[in-house]
Amino acid sequence: MTDVLILGGGPAGLAAAIALRQKDIECLVVEALEPAIDKGCAEGLMPDALASLRKLGLDITEEHGHRFRGIRFNNFAHRVHADFPNGIGIGVRRTKLHGLIAGRAREVGVPVLWNSRAKLLDSRSALINGRKISFRYLVGADGQASGIRKWAGLGEVKRESVRFGFRRHYNIAPWSEYVEVHWGPPGQVYLTPVAADSVCVVFITRNPKLAQGDFLAAFPSVAAKLQGIPTMTQLRAGISANRKLRRVANRSVALIGDASGSPDAITGEGLAVSFRQAVSLANAIEHGDLELYARAHQKIGRLPHAMSWLLLSMDRWPQMQGRAIKTLSSHPDYFQQLLSVHVGAESLHRFAMRQGLRIGWGFLGASLY
Ligand SMILES: Cc1cc2nc3c(=O)[nH]c(=O)nc-3n(C[C@H](O)[C@H](O)[C@H](O)COP(=O)(O)OP(=O)(O)OC[C@H]3O[C@@H](n4cnc5c(N)ncnc54)[C@H](O)[C@@H]3O)c2cc1C
Repeated sequence: MTDVLILGGGPAGLAAAIALRQKDIECLVVEALEPAIDKGCAEGLMPDALASLRKLGLDITEEHGHRFRGIRFNNFAHRVHADFPNGIGIGVRRTKLHGLIAGRAREVGVPVLWNSRAKLLDSRSALINGRKISFRYLVGADGQASGIRKWAGLGEVKRESVRFGFRRHYNIAPWSEYVEVHWGPPGQVYLTPVAADSVCVVFITRNPKLAQGDFLAAFPSVAAKLQGIPTMTQLRAGISANRKLRRVANRSVALIGDASGSPDAITGEGLAVSFRQAVSLANAIEHGDLELYARAHQKIGRLPHAMSWLLLSMDRWPQMQGRAIKTLSSHPDYFQQLLSVHVGAESLHRFAMRQGLRIGWGFLGASLY
């Protein structure tokens, strides 16, 4: 018997378990793989993600990875960067991050069954490693292709688009204090410093046939930087979904993390969103009302989905992308404000009222300036 059964021991499932234990609620995590679990991820934690982790009692510092001070956008003709207004970001190898979150879960007394699977018998019981376990709530933290989502009848999608990510690490000292995002016709390349001797390189595209070798040719400045540099990891693929569900909870089942929908990876906010959801979910379970979670989930996703929409529009329409980066590079203060909104340091509404029209006009290519 446990209060909450959590299926999936990735960052979202473990964060939910930690948040529950912080409220003295019993839970059990069942994870199909062995730790530490890797994933095709750009491995950037922005200041808001670090702040959310601190609420869960986990302080990620430079000793765990490599700092970055903001974001830089590049295309063939222009570049622009901005610093975070609310602290630094840290690039952390995904396996390391998973190990740290799992360690924190252990510290607060979360039982985790690794390398295990659950067979759901009904909405209150499951068979796990041959033993019947009863629970009051079931949490689906089983990632993008969530089986729980389908099982619980929560699979109805409001909006969805899918892109494909490829990740690999290069044995090179980070040359930039920023996470660099290089925009090109086939998609984007993201360069995140993750250690004194390694940079995480992720390519995201709408075309799944483009693999690592092919895409570098489309980003000559990145290709030149990485020419002859040894790789440290195998190529790992991942799905980046921009997905909104109609419902993320019913009376006794809740979805969290990528299982509950996600903003596109372009936002770099997937982990931060999961950590915020974890705290809200624990609060809702404490009050015995998953409707509270459903409402909080919607609120948490509003800004990342708005930013996702904006950035994916740039991805979809190369002309708009060129104009947008040109506009931002000639007005770096606009990029600074956009980044402040993105990391939650400024309100989207206030920003839209003050600058939205001018920037929108610039993105569309009118000659306001
Ligand atoms: C290319 C790419 C780049 C990204 N870059 C960033 C970034 O820089 N910063 C950021 O914040 N986010 C980034 N993200 C998003 C981030 O990786 C995800 O939002 C995050 O991994 C979500 O965590 P999760 O626990 O919900 O899912 P997952 O990490 O997918 O974990 C789900 C877990 O559930 C387990 N599981 C599945 N089925 C079962 C089952 N039946 N029983 C038991 N266990 C099961 C899996 O083994 C897995 O461990 C990126 C995503 C992609 C694709």
